[in-house]
Amino acid sequence: MPLRFHNSLTRRTEDFVPADPQRVTMYLCGPTVYNYVHIGNARGPVVFDVLTRLLRRHYPRLVFARNITDVDDKINAAAQEQGVPITTITDKYAAIYRQDMGRLGVAPPDVEPHATGHIDEIIAMIGQLIAGGHAYAAEGHVLFSVASYADYGKLSRRPVDEMIAGARIDVAPYKRDPGDFVLWKPSTPQQPGWASPWGVGRPGWHIECSAMAAAHLGETIDIHAGGNDLMFPHHENEIAQSTCAHGGRIFARYWLHNGMLDFGGAKMSKSLGNVCVLHELLDKYPPEALRYALLSAHYRQPLDWSDALVEQSIRTLDRLYGTLRGLVDIDVGTGTVTPEIEAALCDDLNTPEALAVIARLAGEARAAATDDARRSAKAALLGAAGLLGILQQDPEAWFKQAAGGPALDEAEIQRLVDRRVAEKKARNFAEADRIREQLLAMGVVIEDTAQGPRWKAANR
Ligand SMILES: [Zn+2]
Repeated sequence: MPLRFHNSLTRRTEDFVPADPQRVTMYLCGPTVYNYVHIGNARGPVVFDVLTRLLRRHYPRLVFARNITDVDDKINAAAQEQGVPITTITDKYAAIYRQDMGRLGVAPPDVEPHATGHIDEIIAMIGQLIAGGHAYAAEGHVLFSVASYADYGKLSRRPVDEMIAGARIDVAPYKRDPGDFVLWKPSTPQQPGWASPWGVGRPGWHIECSAMAAAHLGETIDIHAGGNDLMFPHHENEIAQSTCAHGGRIFARYWLHNGMLDFGGAKMSKSLGNVCVLHELLDKYPPEALRYALLSAHYRQPLDWSDALVEQSIRTLDRLYGTLRGLVDIDVGTGTVTPEIEAALCDDLNTPEALAVIARLAGEARAAATDDARRSAKAALLGAAGLLGILQQDPEAWFKQAAGGPALDEAEIQRLVDRRVAEKKARNFAEADRIREQLLAMGVVIEDTAQGPRWKAANR
C-alpha cells in the first residue's frame, strides 16, 4: 500500500517515494532545553513517532534524527539567572525531555545531534554560504542574504514584502536587508562562545538544523517534520541555508507540519503554560491517555485540549484494556497488522480513523465466539495498536495504574485482598467488609469476579 502524505511544500497530498528506499531519512526539529516543555510541544513528537513506526514497516532502514538545541539565548538567560554553567541547564532539561518522551511511548530517535557538538560543521556551512555570495559578515555577525535566494518564502508562501515588513520593526544597523537573518553572532566573555573566522561567537538557531541534517542524513533528506508554528521563519530559513550551501540541491523532499493545540479557543499563554506542563500532566494522568488524546485528531488539524479530552481517553483505554483482559488466555505475540489499519495510516497518517479501526476491532474481539475468532481478533487489535504505540502494557498494569497520587504498594494490596478472601471463607463478613473499606481508603477498588477478586485503582 503506498504511503501518501500532505506535503506542505507543494500543498498537495502526494505518494511518498523515497530517494533511496535502502536509506530513508527523516528530521524533526527538537526542543530547546532550558525549561519543562508544555503539552503542545508533545504533539509533534507523538504523531511523528507513529509516522516512524509506519515508515519502519515499509523501509526498515529509516534514519530518524531529532536534534537538541543546547545553545540559545533563553538557555543563557536561565543559566545566568541561576548562576550555573549552561550545561547544567541543558543536561538537566534534555534528560527530563528524554524521560518524558519515553513515558509517552515515543521511541528515541536513531540520531540525537546536539548543536554544541556540531560547531565545526556549522562554521563550515557558514563559510560555504559566504563563498557562494549568500551570506556576509558584519560587525562580528554573519547574516544570510535573503535577496540572494530567489525561492525564499516558497514554503510558507509569504510575499517577500510582508516578510520584510515583519522584520523591519527592529532592524539591526549591520543588516543589508531587513529580512536578512543571523547565522552567527558575537559572544561576550560571559556568554558561551566558540572561535570562528568572524570572532568568538555562537550560531543562530536556524543554521544548526541545516548543519546537523546534512551531517547525519545528507544534503537532501526525504522528510522534514515539525510544528506549523516553525514554518516561518525557521523552516523557510533552513531551506534557504541548505539549498544555497549545497549548490541548489533540494533540502527536504517532503515537509510535514503538525497543527497546534487549542485551549478552549485561547492561545497558549504563560499562565496556561503552567497548567499544561507535560512533566506534571504525566504525573496527573496515565501517560498512555495523554498519548491517545494527542492522536485523537488528525495531525494537521488543531486539537482542542482539555481535561475532559484526557478523561474521555482514559475511559476509552479502560474499555480497550478491558477487552484485552478478556483475551488474556490467548497469546498472539505482537499481533498482525491488517490492511485496514495500514490503509488508515498510509492515508496521510489518519490517526482518528486508525483509532476508529481499533475500536471496531475491539468490538469484534468482544463478540468473537470461537477460539479461532478470538485469536484473530486479538492479533488484529494488538497489531493495529502497536502501530499507534498504545495498548502495549499488561491490562492488569493499566488497571492498577493510579492516576496521580503516590504509587500503590502492590504487595501490601495483594496481602489485604488475600486476607479478605480468607475472612470471607471463614464467614467473618464484617472483617471482610472492613478490609474492603481499608483498601478503598488506600485508593483501591475490589471487583469480585467468577475467577476471584481483582483490584484496580479507585480513580481509574
Ligand atoms: Zn529545525
